[in-house]
Amino acid sequence: MQRWVELADRLSREKIAPRAEAVDREGRFPSENYRDLAEAGLLALMVPEAFGGIGADSLTYVTVLSKIARGCASTGLIFNMHSAIVDFLLQIAAPGQQERYFGEVRGKGAIFSSITSEPGSSFRDKLALRTSIRRDGAGYRLSGKKHFCSLSTGATYYFTWSLLNGAKGLEDGLLNVMVPSGREGIEVLDDWDTLGMRGTASNSIHFHDVRVEPGEVIGAPGSILGKDMSIWSLGYTAVYIGIAEAAYEFRVNYARKTRFHGMDTTLAHVDRIQRQIGEMSMLLENARRAAEKPGALRGNLGRQELTFILNQAKYLATEAAKELAEQGIRLCGGRGLSRSLPIERHLRDAMAGVVMPPANDRCLETVGKIALGLEAKTLEFQ
Ligand SMILES: Cc1cc2nc3c(=O)[nH]c(=O)nc-3n(C[C@H](O)[C@H](O)[C@H](O)COP(=O)(O)OP(=O)(O)OC[C@H]3O[C@@H](n4cnc5c(N)ncnc54)[C@H](O)[C@@H]3O)c2cc1C
Repeated sequence: MQRWVELADRLSREKIAPRAEAVDREGRFPSENYRDLAEAGLLALMVPEAFGGIGADSLTYVTVLSKIARGCASTGLIFNMHSAIVDFLLQIAAPGQQERYFGEVRGKGAIFSSITSEPGSSFRDKLALRTSIRRDGAGYRLSGKKHFCSLSTGATYYFTWSLLNGAKGLEDGLLNVMVPSGREGIEVLDDWDTLGMRGTASNSIHFHDVRVEPGEVIGAPGSILGKDMSIWSLGYTAVYIGIAEAAYEFRVNYARKTRFHGMDTTLAHVDRIQRQIGEMSMLLENARRAAEKPGALRGNLGRQELTFILNQAKYLATEAAKELAEQGIRLCGGRGLSRSLPIERHLRDAMAGVVMPPANDRCLETVGKIALGLEAKTLEFQ
């Protein structure tokens, strides 16, 4: 698996990182990065070998994703959305559907997005869907409003969460459907204009009575409930490790090459700076190790144990990213606020990690609960 890590590392440094500033400034889907990822075969990172994919284990996933995100956080975050859907298809799609969709990832560079969040609902405690789906002959019709739809302008398919008309609840009514992004009746708004993660193209999407073919329904109603969704948090952890690494590398390079008028040496020779770099190195290493643990153990742990270490890892990674980026700005002084340096982007992107589910205050609550021997919720959407 090392070769995939090396490939992602190279791609990230040579192609993805140099484009990150423009992707952020223009707030657009990084299509050129996705062309490169597809060409390199990395879109099939989580597709099993039996379907012609790479079949990466969780630790490789974390490492590869952190390399991609180090180059461009938005590119990394949406890579996690795509890979999560690969994982869900593996768990609930019919064999013929797996063959088809994974074949398209491999052969055509198909990209999947997860269209779940809704403007009027919070999924903090439970999934409360208002997007509805009704029967229409052998197929269905989908209607509703979604927001935070990452990959809205880049995905080939929208893996959408909806509620079947007339159902009593999620168990008999939650229907996941794979809608081709070009289907008639889909309206993609142009409303993603945020502090950070600007290249995720997480615009709102409105479904206006959109036709869904029978073969596009994934699993029986409610079949995704209770399935393993840990890839979401695992991937977020990796993304923020990537930002932390980028901020750390920036700091080290800045200190090594900066020498102001009147100084005999570069900043690297100043004791205070060395100490700061030492502290940041510890913080990064701490977060890395915390991320490697669920990466290595996922699949071999019970839900509560996995939830415990995943919430720790997600918290540590996102806080490390924020802290390293903020310290990077302090090191640069006023220059650090300039868009000509990448460090202010790292801080803006890192802020998304703190609030994205499970939000960091929620991570603390969950870890505390489990540490106290109480049962914590183990599902977090998105
Ligand atoms: C960069 C980015 C990309 C995203 N991509 C996607 C995507 O591809 N697909 C997708 O579906 N979603 C996506 N999301 C959406 C995300 O997963 C969340 O659904 C979205 O952020 C809404 O959740 P929220 O953070 O606003 O929290 P909410 O759950 O809306 O809560 C907002 C605040 O209210 C508090 N709160 C909520 N309920 C209660 C309560 N009962 N009691 C007390 N306090 C409460 C919460 O603690 C929080 O502080 C993305 C978000 C971001 C930032």
